[in-house]
Amino acid sequence: MTSIRIKTSVPYDVTVGRGASELAPQFVRREMRKAGKVALVTDSTVGALYAGGMAAAFSGAGLDAAVFTFPAGEKSKNLSTYGDLMEFLAAHRLDRTDVVVALGGGVSGDLAGFAAATYRRGIDFMQIPTSLLAMVDSSVGGKTGVDLAVGKNLAGAFHQPRAVFCDTAFLETLPEAWRMDGMGEVFKYAILGDAALFGKLEKAPASPIGECEISECIGMKRDIVEKDEREGGIRKLLNLGHTFAHAIETLSGYDVSHGRAVATGIAMMARVSARMGVLPPGDLARIEALAGAMGYETHTGLPPADIAESILGDKKVSGASIDLVVPQEIGKCFIRKTPLEEIGKVVADAM
Ligand code: NAD
Repeated sequence: MTSIRIKTSVPYDVTVGRGASELAPQFVRREMRKAGKVALVTDSTVGALYAGGMAAAFSGAGLDAAVFTFPAGEKSKNLSTYGDLMEFLAAHRLDRTDVVVALGGGVSGDLAGFAAATYRRGIDFMQIPTSLLAMVDSSVGGKTGVDLAVGKNLAGAFHQPRAVFCDTAFLETLPEAWRMDGMGEVFKYAILGDAALFGKLEKAPASPIGECEISECIGMKRDIVEKDEREGGIRKLLNLGHTFAHAIETLSGYDVSHGRAVATGIAMMARVSARMGVLPPGDLARIEALAGAMGYETHTGLPPADIAESILGDKKVSGASIDLVVPQEIGKCFIRKTPLEEIGKVVADAM
């Protein structure tokens, strides 16, 4: 079992390893002595597999456990499910000493965290991620929220969990398509800050990853969020590949999942960087080769004009110029503020 301390405004530990979730009930007993109730927030798929066992474990530790289940999928990450969850917490009379526990992927984590951040002006929450993406990325760092009709994650709050338990045993039931989706974020972390992890992936691109690699990704996220908890600066590095990925996701009507779109977006950004004369051609070749070996598209078939329009449309919502994350070499990236007039050329260079 690996333990990683995250020293944000509210410090907490991330425990990674087989059986880590079994430590959660005792953690509540030990560290949140006044808590009497836990609300487990889970989706229909994860709930059917694991909610019964987790609820029994919390009950066994003397806690009153209630389970809130919503239909699996990004479409549930909205204000309506959030409203239902808030009513559920109130109906079960959780008070400010009680705990919300997210059991599931990033959707459960973002939704449960946002409810915990706002219910009674904020109560404690914990993360028990079950998808690879949630383990390596979304369960750490305190970003919570739901989607609005206009765009993703537009309603939300920063609310750090009291603890995160990444139980690698959950990954055994994760469907292959979702494993690949999570691997897109692992690919991102390798290029962002870990040339050794990149080398490991090159040697075995299709192998499942475990406690060690998951902990390495969390360690990189820790290094970034500790310096910039509220995304004023370097936390934006975590958006590597995301400008193109959002366009691909939107234009495909979400047929291309997030992690796959991120991997393609990174290959595109690598070409932009190489054409700027920043990324060495050898590194570009390795990035494209690894993306392909991991099963991702290195090029999108979408028309460049549509991609540019989608990127500019996104910016209308945030009203800002574009911060592009540029790979400098494998394991090192930087942020480049890019005028909107340059987007057409950037997209052309990415193709
Ligand atoms: P998800 O929560 O929808 O999970 C993906 C699918 O896998 C779901 O169908 C789920 O039921 C299933 N699943 C999860 N664990 C399983 C298991 N162990 N066994 C069987 N099935 C399992 O999606 P996700 O990919 O985990 O997360 C995506 C979400 O995360 C997006 O909403 C994204 O915006 C968010 N996100 C948040 C952050 C953050 O910092 N807060 C970072 C990245 C992504």
